[in-house]
Amino acid sequence: MGRPQKHDVDYFPFFAKRGKTLNILQSKYGLEGIGFFTNLLRFLALTPDHYYCMQEEHDRLNFFAEIGIQDEEKGLAMIELMVKTDWLLCPVCQSKSRTRIRTDTTLTNFPLFCPKCKQETLVNVKQLNTSIIKEPDAKAQSQ
Ligand SMILES: [Zn+2]
Repeated sequence: MGRPQKHDVDYFPFFAKRGKTLNILQSKYGLEGIGFFTNLLRFLALTPDHYYCMQEEHDRLNFFAEIGIQDEEKGLAMIELMVKTDWLLCPVCQSKSRTRIRTDTTLTNFPLFCPKCKQETLVNVKQLNTSIIKEPDAKAQSQ
């Protein structure tokens, strides 16, 4: 996947775009939400494979120090919110599918396969809202 070409000004170091995630973070957490979003993405941009494991206490403490937020609970809630708005969730088990959606993604009759519960659900997606067209049938569920 190639990087989109920048069409904004050079003095601004990020891609300027509006997004539902940013709007929700800002309305819920004020500018701290925007700062969290920016620092988190900047942090992940520099980690190997853009991945960071917070299982160990010292890794978690380092993460929140890097991002610059003291309230861990608030930080985790913001991550939860970002995950919700970025990945298409399985309507059956609510796990993250491997399908990423954008705020401007529109899907019609999309066969969404869940790698966790191994079920395929027919969905429509508009403005990050998923509606189920056809739930997996009983036969598929028993497999
Ligand atoms: Zn599932």
